[in-house]
Amino acid sequence: MPIAPKPLYNLFVIGGGINGAAIACDAAGRGLAVALAEERDFAEGTSSRSSKLIHGGLRYLETYDFRLVRHALLEREILMAKAPHLVWPIRLVLPHVPSLRPRWMIRLGLLFYDFLAPRRQLPGSQSIDLRHHEFGKALKPSVTHAFAYSDCRGDDARLVIANVQGAQAHGADIFARHRFVGARRHPDYWQIDLENTLTKQRLDIQAKILINAAGPWVISVGETIDGVVTARRLRMVRGSHIVVPRLWEGEHGYFLQTRDNRTMEAFPYEDDFTSIGTTDEPWEDAPEKVTVSEKEIDYMLDEVNQYLRNPVSRADIVWRYAGVRPLFEVGGGRDGELSTLTRDYAFEINGGQDQAPALTIFGGKLTTHRRLAEHAMMELESILPWFGACRTRTEMLPGGDLGSGGLEGFTADLLRDFSWLPPKQLRRYAKLYGTRARALLGSAQRPADLGLRFGADLYAREVDYLMDNEWALAADDIVWRRSKLGLRLSAAEIETLGAYMASRKPAWV
Ligand SMILES: Cc1cc2nc3c(=O)[nH]c(=O)nc-3n(C[C@H](O)[C@H](O)[C@H](O)COP(=O)(O)OP(=O)(O)OC[C@H]3O[C@@H](n4cnc5c(N)ncnc54)[C@H](O)[C@@H]3O)c2cc1C
Repeated sequence: MPIAPKPLYNLFVIGGGINGAAIACDAAGRGLAVALAEERDFAEGTSSRSSKLIHGGLRYLETYDFRLVRHALLEREILMAKAPHLVWPIRLVLPHVPSLRPRWMIRLGLLFYDFLAPRRQLPGSQSIDLRHHEFGKALKPSVTHAFAYSDCRGDDARLVIANVQGAQAHGADIFARHRFVGARRHPDYWQIDLENTLTKQRLDIQAKILINAAGPWVISVGETIDGVVTARRLRMVRGSHIVVPRLWEGEHGYFLQTRDNRTMEAFPYEDDFTSIGTTDEPWEDAPEKVTVSEKEIDYMLDEVNQYLRNPVSRADIVWRYAGVRPLFEVGGGRDGELSTLTRDYAFEINGGQDQAPALTIFGGKLTTHRRLAEHAMMELESILPWFGACRTRTEMLPGGDLGSGGLEGFTADLLRDFSWLPPKQLRRYAKLYGTRARALLGSAQRPADLGLRFGADLYAREVDYLMDNEWALAADDIVWRRSKLGLRLSAAEIETLGAYMASRKPAWV
């Protein structure tokens, strides 16, 4: 059944990327009446197009962004504990290149990285002689020395869904496929115009506080909000990735210095692949039009091949994706040349005592989404009459309650209880859905209970589950955001999946 809006929400959040989803989750967990609207699919904006690092950001030390690095470092272990199926540790190898940053500089940076925030699980950095180490096997013999350190990787799009589900579990109303059209300000509430993008039906909603978490669309959305003028200027920066068949054994990734003094990463991806990225290019067009350019592909191949023992070529690329970072200029100045761009976030609050307030979110990283949400609520504390304490530091995200055995223990239980299913398929379910894998499998007792097979190990049962419980509506939602099965399905199989999904109407539509 479509949602019947409540008469008055405390908080209305625009944008179902990681930041909007995290704010909705935090606020609903504090007992507030929350609504979240997303025009497209959840995470279809920037939040499914990241490098998927949950990291302090080693390179931000070079721009003295110590505050951001410390906050982000702290979030790594919090997120690992909240969603152990979606955030996992990774050892990163940073090869030393004599003509680039000197050894002492890297060592010093890593010492900072090790000690800027307390760590309980992630090991510290080390120096490595690649000639006698497995980390050297994928690299050219001329690369003889490296440093290894720890960060985390995460499933960005699934973290978004987990936060949306967390918000829903705490009573938030989720307006999937609803476009925020505009809002009229009244002294103590907002009158919000929402359009269902599927039926074109308009909804009139009222909320005390409006939160603009529209990521790269934050300025254009802000222009439709009565009386809200923002001082900051956004810079859109495109970042692209390529995906190739797996290039090395082992779960470690490489953090590579590029010849233009930037950095690039290469990671094991989805078991059988390696992802390589990212670029940093100005993007002037609409965020939804972003694509990977041929020039970026040349750049990524050239740079990664400076290091790889077995070079990769264009012919190896199986997938590519691009996203837009909504970065803002520090200080909010108009002089783009003199301003610096930060990866941190900033808030602007408009209104307050005698006008309904609006909070606009600028920037923010995948890594800091939970912290950003907690911080946003602290900012609103003086305006909202009452709300409960923050729960997101310790509360598991839906699916994250894997028990003391963690992902391994939970997967072992699944393998035992559903021994008639291939282990690889069960491992995939455990990583994507955590404990909710059991809800997906339900009472299934034999392969036939999974229904129609679309390709790879995708069956109707999973598709139905995703449509009914995770707001999936079209094939892309499933093959590129709820999962990465697009890497394993043919175009014809994806088309059949799309036709099946079009013929089925989920309850929430
Ligand atoms: C290439 C790249 C690599 C990155 N790598 C990392 C990384 O490794 N680690 C890290 O921590 N961060 C990384 N980031 C940054 C991180 O991905 C972003 O900061 C984060 O995803 C931004 O989330 P968001 O919710 O602000 O925006 P988005 O995810 O873009 O969400 C905004 C949402 O608002 C919706 N919306 C817009 N207008 C409307 C409307 N009118 N009505 C309703 N909904 C609307 C959009 O559809 C969209 O879903 C990377 C970013 C890029 C581009």
